[in-house]
Amino acid sequence: MTTLEQLLPQLTLDEKVALLAGRDLWHSIPVPRLGIPVLKVSDGPNGVRGAYRDNRPPSICLPVGIALGATWNTALVEDAGRLLAGEAKRKNAHILLGPTVNIHRTPIAGRNFECFAEDPYLSGTIAAAYINGLQRSGVGACIKHFVCNDQEHERMSISAEVTERPLHEIYLEPFRLAMRLANPWSLMSGYNRINGRFASENNPLLKEILKETWSYDGLVISDWFGTYTPAVAAGGLDLEMPGPARWMTAENVHAALQSGQLTPAGLDDKVRRLLRTLDRVQAVTRPASGSEQGANLPQERQRIRQIAQETIVLLKNDQALPLDPTKVRTIAVIGQLARRPNIMGGGSSEVRTHYVVSPLDGLRQRAGDQVAVHYAPGCFIHRTLPTPDPATLTTPDGQPGLLLTLYDNLDFSGSPAYSEQTDLARFGWFEDSVPGVNQTRFCMRLEGHFTPQESGQHTLGLTSIGQSRLFLNGELLLDNWQDTRPHAQQTIQLTLPAGQPCPLTLEFRWVGNPHYREVALGHLPPHSDDLLGEALALARQADVAIVLAGLTNEWESEGFDRPGLALPGAQDELIAQVAAANPNTIVVLNAGSAVAMPWLDDVAAILMQWYNSQECGNALADILFGDTNPSGKLPTTFPQRLADNPAYLNYPGENGRVHYGEGLFVGYRYYDKKEITPLFPFGFGLSYTSFAYSDLQFSATPFTAATGLTVRCTVRNTGRVAGQEVVQLYVHDHHATLTRPEKELKAFAKVALAPGEATTVTFSLDQEAFWYYDPARGGWQAEPGEFDILIGASSRDIRLRGTVRLVGHPAGEAPLHTGLTLRTLLANDTGREILARHLSDIIPLLESYGLLDRTPDELAHIAPDLLPANLLPKINADFSAA
Ligand code: BGC
Repeated sequence: MTTLEQLLPQLTLDEKVALLAGRDLWHSIPVPRLGIPVLKVSDGPNGVRGAYRDNRPPSICLPVGIALGATWNTALVEDAGRLLAGEAKRKNAHILLGPTVNIHRTPIAGRNFECFAEDPYLSGTIAAAYINGLQRSGVGACIKHFVCNDQEHERMSISAEVTERPLHEIYLEPFRLAMRLANPWSLMSGYNRINGRFASENNPLLKEILKETWSYDGLVISDWFGTYTPAVAAGGLDLEMPGPARWMTAENVHAALQSGQLTPAGLDDKVRRLLRTLDRVQAVTRPASGSEQGANLPQERQRIRQIAQETIVLLKNDQALPLDPTKVRTIAVIGQLARRPNIMGGGSSEVRTHYVVSPLDGLRQRAGDQVAVHYAPGCFIHRTLPTPDPATLTTPDGQPGLLLTLYDNLDFSGSPAYSEQTDLARFGWFEDSVPGVNQTRFCMRLEGHFTPQESGQHTLGLTSIGQSRLFLNGELLLDNWQDTRPHAQQTIQLTLPAGQPCPLTLEFRWVGNPHYREVALGHLPPHSDDLLGEALALARQADVAIVLAGLTNEWESEGFDRPGLALPGAQDELIAQVAAANPNTIVVLNAGSAVAMPWLDDVAAILMQWYNSQECGNALADILFGDTNPSGKLPTTFPQRLADNPAYLNYPGENGRVHYGEGLFVGYRYYDKKEITPLFPFGFGLSYTSFAYSDLQFSATPFTAATGLTVRCTVRNTGRVAGQEVVQLYVHDHHATLTRPEKELKAFAKVALAPGEATTVTFSLDQEAFWYYDPARGGWQAEPGEFDILIGASSRDIRLRGTVRLVGHPAGEAPLHTGLTLRTLLANDTGREILARHLSDIIPLLESYGLLDRTPDELAHIAPDLLPANLLPKINADFSAA
């Protein structure tokens, strides 16, 4: 069978050039003459959005990246990948734009929720599982954003100033690991610059490291609008997105060919990668055309619920959990997020879901009729009014939601170009994502009834980018038609009786550049004048108070970083007061990264729920009632204070540059080295049972890098309920030529144990568990010497420790060269032998002359009589040949 890749020679030069940029927002350009189809991509990563984010069809919604990181369960994450592949196929997408493997450099970065971890090993292995799940099901991954795209502040221009060691050991490492373990079929460059060069045209990274050193054979795609100069034509980027071409234009590509910066072979390589990707995703037999579908299947709901359960991290438990249904008669559920949880962070990863089980619904369902579950919001944390509860909306013919119609004109005339029944009341459209209309001129109507659930004073709000107006009961209530104020929410208060349907019409009109349009209906139901007092009254009467606190996509999102660690609004005050009112106060944190917990000592239990899917309420109830034992562990350190975090002095940067001044010491590597006690350490998470660790054994010590080392230990469930434990293996280097962190995660395993049951956990370590990156040698070094193997239940709870000795020549040792110190070269057998060949006379003098810490290059410069410069190339040639 002919592959598309074999068609490369048949493409004309113009066709090849055209293939280097997309056709539109989500597709590549086809070549029908040769049967080359389009490639369709879709966001990513916690669902599959399809071409129309806020319009039908909906997608399944899985836990976000940090929540998957918290499972420490590669088999489960691989399953998440499989589910996502199924959804991608329903949306006719070939590539899912994920996973995101940027590093949690600062706890307040806006996209931390989307990234797995602060640790490169955890991030890379979880990413590999996700990618394998996708790709083994025929859908390509697009690992992103390459690289050092670790903050949102000035994200399209900031230059991450990073030195070689942290670049390799921390920031590139999850990508390298994912390449090694799963070979993602595509990769997305970042928006940012790295050491001054834009990621999309950073040839040292894209060409030398990615494509040459790592031999990456996949497709390199730009982030959306993340190309900035004509240099992309000759660079390592293969596909500019979205299309049409902005910098990867025919003119720029031809100019690059003419100047010789892009060779014909270089052009062929870019095109071959696209064709190879089309082959890999079987785009010929699985075309992008056809309507997108959604499916809400019971078996997928169940699997997502299980994945969500494993994301939850129990941070504190003073015997408050699990809840005992025979004793708990009344539960006070407090917090706006209990009713309207946040299940994803804001930005391009948002998907339209089929449904959301709220914590309140999940708890009520699990608690059953015998337990009274009361709710109070406690305080509000919205910036603009939230959208109306879908239960308050019905279409003109009585279906749930509203009727949405889009018109391909500006006066709502004729029949609609598109219509759907929608339970959304907020829409945001980028570029050509409005179904069925001319993207620069269209209008939209939402119609139906709004039926208040409570009598009293309601607040309605309207926000838009574009013209908008809201009618209720036939009356124009809010008018953004003449005088549009982008993003400014207009509000009105009115008294409405419960249960009486009010005809509602919202109209929107757009004329102009299609870059972004938005409209949102807001609603705040009647509420007590004393929200805190109302919540405290509930808490006092209840056996247990559960406070849902956290962030929303108005506070944590792509596009901006958080101002600090504090929970927004009066949530800290609310928690403190509820805890004072009820000793059984349990705090559930619905947030995508670390938050401050000034009330930590006052509450009985704390759970980190993250943004963990459409099933978040069920998964939470499963954990609260002990139907499932919590087994998540933090994939990131929670600091006591913002000022404690490693990036604090070098964030967000100035004059367009952010210095990664903490170097290697990111996350726990920093807290360990500085001996700072975090609020909760990396790898931390409690269980309803306990585990004992024993019998640490090594296959052999000394061992060589070539044979590797097998480590075994026994873990026993010493409690009364079944549970899962994440056994973490860290390596500590006793002595290295270069500085190293106190410990580095190099392996982990999650084991399930019945009460009393024990198991042997086996880890196979190869040289990568011991090496570090040495810029002077331009490569990784596993230096012989002693290492501690630390087995822990968290990075700060090491249960077993033993010392091993690595001997001999590490396999894959980077080449020696004359830029290394004489001390280093002489410590190496090969180095000593080659130097002796050329410098036998002076070697005995080096120590007494104090020259051991000089390099041969320096010596040739300062003492040419000892080492003539013309010897350097000969020595280097021998080093390379060795
Ligand atoms: C994000 C990417 C995303 C792309 C397409 C960008 O804003 O950075 O992660 O895949 O948009 O939506």
